[in-house]
Amino acid sequence: MKDLKLTGVRPDGARTVVEVGGIRIGEGFTVIAGPCAVESEDQLLRTAVAVKEAGATMLRGGAFKPRTSPYAFQGLGLKGLKILDKARRETGLPIVTEVIDTRDVSWVGEYADVLQIGARNMQNFSLLREAGKSGRPILLKRGMYSTLEEWLNCAEYILAEGNPDVILCERGIRSFETYTRNTLDLSIVPSVKATSHLPILVDPSHGTGVLGLIEPMSLAAVAAGADGLEIEVHIDPPAALSDKAQQLSPEAFARLMRKIATMRRTMDELAEEDRR
Ligand code: PEP
Ligand code: MN
Repeated sequence: MKDLKLTGVRPDGARTVVEVGGIRIGEGFTVIAGPCAVESEDQLLRTAVAVKEAGATMLRGGAFKPRTSPYAFQGLGLKGLKILDKARRETGLPIVTEVIDTRDVSWVGEYADVLQIGARNMQNFSLLREAGKSGRPILLKRGMYSTLEEWLNCAEYILAEGNPDVILCERGIRSFETYTRNTLDLSIVPSVKATSHLPILVDPSHGTGVLGLIEPMSLAAVAAGADGLEIEVHIDPPAALSDKAQQLSPEAFARLMRKIATMRRTMDELAEEDRR
């Protein structure tokens, strides 16, 4: 891959670690969990406490939702950001939230610890440039029709503006398959490791859209070498205003976190065997 001046592998092999409020993404394993959208203070705070209890290290929740239909719930905007801010104060979890408009980057950055750029905006070059100037770490999701090279070039836009803190997140690509919402491309994880120094997370929630597939794909992401996961969790999934079919209950998330810990120990043992 050519012209990956800033995102390509470094000669010494050093990998980027993004620091966010004491969390180091790219070192160990980071789990970002929380609802698809911030719906109310009660919904978000209860979910935040539950995911923290289960071991999540960061909290997600959309205040601006990029929806297929203009009539679907679009998010609470500023009110949602204020609720996220309260959840951070109450739980200590750093906040990841999406920004969908260049005009919002700087002020949303005052509430967010990490700004997410979603799949639909991956190649929104003006948004990428603003993100590069925001002074906040950026979680850049893979576009649903994007190759690895196109994705890394989008990260390149952010780094080129002077922001080195980019976290990639695989969230599934469009294929002919309709059983799943998207086709989760886990081969991208070792591919990113081979071509870039940036950390790579996996989102099995949007990546499959199927509740029963979130656990196996999360464990497979650990096996593939991902630096972490972004998972949708809702205090009451059937009542969710968006993505209700793919949000885990806090109980299911806690069970998953225990299995992730076991899988990570196994992977550590395999790495130890390789070193011997
Ligand atoms: C999200 O994570 O809230 C989201 C909308 O995901 P994606 O951009 O991957 O569809
Ligand atoms: Mn969602």
